[in-house]
Amino acid sequence: MSRKSIARPDAGYSQGERPLRVFKFGGTSVGDASCILKVADIIRAAASESDLVVVVSAMAGVTNQLVDAAVLAENGNEKAVTDVLKLLRQQHDLALQTTIQSSDEKSRIACKMNELFEEGDRLCKGTTLLRELTPRVRDSISSLGERLSVLLVAAALREHGVTAEAIEASELVVTDSSHGAADPWLDLTRGRCHDRLLPVLKRGAVPVITGFIGATAEGVLTTLGRGGSDYSATILGAALDADEVVIWTDVDGLLTADPRLVHEARTISEVSYREAMELAYFGAKVLHPKTLRPVLQRGIPLRIRNTFFPENPGTKITPEGTPNGSTVTALTAVSDAALITVGGPGIAGVPDVLGRALAITRELRADVLLVSQSSSQNETCLVVPSSLARQTVEELRREFAQDLAYEKVEHIAIDATVSIVTVVGQKIRGMSGVVGRAFCALGRVNIDTIATAHGASECKFSFVVPKKDMQAALAAIHAEFGLGAPTSPDVTEAGFGRRPCAVSQASPICSVSAD
Ligand code: ADP
Ligand code: ASP
Ligand code: MG
Repeated sequence: MSRKSIARPDAGYSQGERPLRVFKFGGTSVGDASCILKVADIIRAAASESDLVVVVSAMAGVTNQLVDAAVLAENGNEKAVTDVLKLLRQQHDLALQTTIQSSDEKSRIACKMNELFEEGDRLCKGTTLLRELTPRVRDSISSLGERLSVLLVAAALREHGVTAEAIEASELVVTDSSHGAADPWLDLTRGRCHDRLLPVLKRGAVPVITGFIGATAEGVLTTLGRGGSDYSATILGAALDADEVVIWTDVDGLLTADPRLVHEARTISEVSYREAMELAYFGAKVLHPKTLRPVLQRGIPLRIRNTFFPENPGTKITPEGTPNGSTVTALTAVSDAALITVGGPGIAGVPDVLGRALAITRELRADVLLVSQSSSQNETCLVVPSSLARQTVEELRREFAQDLAYEKVEHIAIDATVSIVTVVGQKIRGMSGVVGRAFCALGRVNIDTIATAHGASECKFSFVVPKKDMQAALAAIHAEFGLGAPTSPDVTEAGFGRRPCAVSQASPICSVSAD
């Protein structure tokens, strides 16, 4: 697919042929004053050759603390709330004092920060009074981190001689009202972005925009979900028809596996949208699961780069990727998953078990990561994120109450100690030998799989393993496909690998994947 060129309406801001780039900096990239100064250096260097729109996350750990404060407020723990907010104030004040030299700028930013902390204080006090944390208030409290960090980054840029303006994305990103997991209305967002951002770019300034945040058309603040600043960057990139979106983070790019789990993981130089989407959806934290959605249609390339080693090229994510001769591109894992089983011999007579179960997960907005069903329909398994497992089981028990009463459905069981491991690669499609090799590798280290999912046309397959075996499973498969090797890792295109297969393991259930 080639990059579609879409005219930027009223694109008179562009200085000659300068490309437009969206740069997003994650929490660790703005984690303290010295990091913010590195970010300012990167932006200043890039601003000499591109028009830039910058998106920033909250300083590392801040959103977690804000969410904690909100929950403490709901529980009526006023003292603990005050302590959390006080620590956050100190952290931001220290960053301000260290980053900014000009006393005028310092007092201006300090004043704005104070207003935000007072707002946080009022929201927490209201929550304590009512002993209720509504999704709307939770979003308002958790958004404060980004609203604070843009002030620091924009001020640091001005100190570096770059004209910059802090902007709240609630002015730009128009979303539905799904608090905590809002999705954008792209047409409305595009209009707002053009109206608000093009004049800023036209006068040669860099807009520094809060990630993670949007607002409904009526102006009620929403958030896009945890880790959502990546999604903010691609939403803005698509709205402005940018030439490139760059996600600056704390690793060298998209790696063959999470480096915290597989030490041999190495950086992938180029990968396709499809592969990156699967990796993001199935747990690669470096990208929010929805990051690719906005740029797909327009073919805007995405790059992941390391803020702390900006000289490294990072990973390029393009519509088609570049085949590297390897069958498998990368592995990923969802560590906190729960397997819910609706089963029992009597279930065969129960109408539409899967449909009714999925209607429940849809209502709860629980992402079903994997579904499998035995051919005799004796057992239907759903894998959902652990955080929603208990609620899902309660609702399933309610839905199937009558069937349970007549003992048609013998059990609705939950195993909360499972993980999903996913193997991704463009060439996996239609290559059954790859799956066999992966299972052989698992068999050699005595790991049993609980369920599998592999669609005929997919570039990935997933399987469920006990959580305690997740890391060993990743290591075994990473080694099997030679993913840690510096170049051309794997040349075995099909068949059952180079070593003899110690265990022949067929999936006990026929399965369909969830996406
Ligand atoms: P940021 O704060 O910049 O948004 P995140 O913590 O959200 O950064 O994402 C970066 C982290 O993602 C890395 O530090 C790494 O541990 C983790 N990660 C998980 N899977 C992968 C992968 N396949 N490639 C790179 N990083 C990964
Ligand atoms: N600050 C938000 C979070 O921690 C968004 C992000 O970092 O992408 O979830
Ligand atoms: Mg992130």
